[in-house]
Amino acid sequence: METFALRPAIYFGDDALSALEALAGKRVLIVTDDFLAHKSGLLPRVTAHLKGALTEVFSKVTPDPSLRLVAEGVRALRDFSPDAVLAFGGGSPMDCAKAMRHFSDRPGLLFYAVPTTAGTGSEVTSFAVLTDTDAGVKYPLVDDALLPDAAILDASLLAGVPGPVTADTGMDVLTHASEAYVARKANAFTDALAERAFVLAWENLIKAHAAKGEHPAKEQMLLASCMAGIAFNGAGLGANHALAHSLGGRYHTPHGRLNAMLMPHVIRFNAEEPAAAKKYAALAKACGLAPNARALSSALGRLRQSLGMPGRLTDCGVERKTVLADLEAITAAALADVCMPGNPRSAAAAELAAIVREV
Ligand code: NAD
Repeated sequence: METFALRPAIYFGDDALSALEALAGKRVLIVTDDFLAHKSGLLPRVTAHLKGALTEVFSKVTPDPSLRLVAEGVRALRDFSPDAVLAFGGGSPMDCAKAMRHFSDRPGLLFYAVPTTAGTGSEVTSFAVLTDTDAGVKYPLVDDALLPDAAILDASLLAGVPGPVTADTGMDVLTHASEAYVARKANAFTDALAERAFVLAWENLIKAHAAKGEHPAKEQMLLASCMAGIAFNGAGLGANHALAHSLGGRYHTPHGRLNAMLMPHVIRFNAEEPAAAKKYAALAKACGLAPNARALSSALGRLRQSLGMPGRLTDCGVERKTVLADLEAITAAALADVCMPGNPRSAAAAELAAIVREV
């Protein structure tokens, strides 16, 4: 038997933010980062729909939220005692808000998510990725209790996303879609969403990256991000994400940037497994490429270059000798990562180490 669960409700399109009116008159804790709360000018777009609500803003979220930050957030949540938590931001505020709500142990606390990057798909997933800064380890919590009640997609919020963030987050979408498509638990429903998400992101990422202000390609990327999130939430991920979490916990390189570096190598590794090779060929064909895994892997490398993204950790300020010294710990953390069992091909430590040496 296979299963595919549908949750949360997704609101998208021009007036999607009006779905927030369901929270009118309630006590709402908004979880976001400093830029979005105080510098972007975007927060009033959200609060305008919370008529009569008593709001408090927790804006201390930083990229790759730490356990310490979550603990601080839980205290803020308990002090304010909201009826609803509203996550407003990229993956970092959404994951921090998910963990805050979870660890505050308040049954019935509503959870709405409004993504401002395209992206992590966190608005529709049971994942919250946290970082233990003392141990230098980043890992996803996975629990259906983390799922939001509503995901609200308004692409106009993405108008001012800086180019490098559009590139990093967009490559994250392609990684989610490609990993979900070949993952061990993939099924007919997750395949449909993963394939569509991959093609949409493939067709729109360069345009979204080049566009200043609002642009239809940004809306397509936001839809692709959400579809890829639903796909991997059902199908799982794989070695790409396991390695990105391990490297991200140590070196704090943006998540999507690491995924983009690793993806061509992970695809070539997985393509030794015939079932995965067949699926990569189908993705390549759907994007108008030669129908094989090598063409897909090469095209993703070229896309990364076109977006001006680095291909090696040394380009991100991580010294080669540091990576080589950490290699054993990097592969051990990846093998222990919750995403690893989803990979279509079993990987030994030495095989993961060989991939890390390539980046
Ligand atoms: P992010 O949330 O860390 O944001 C990156 C930067 O973009 C921040 O400086 C932020 O202020 C800025 N930004 C966000 N929205 C903006 C906007 N509309 N305009 C201008 N600037 C904006 O980045 P992210 O890539 O969205 O999230 C990364 C985090 O999500 C990582 O911790 C990653 O591991 C995690 N993640 C979670 C899941 C999941 O399912 N929960 C999946 C993938 C990744």
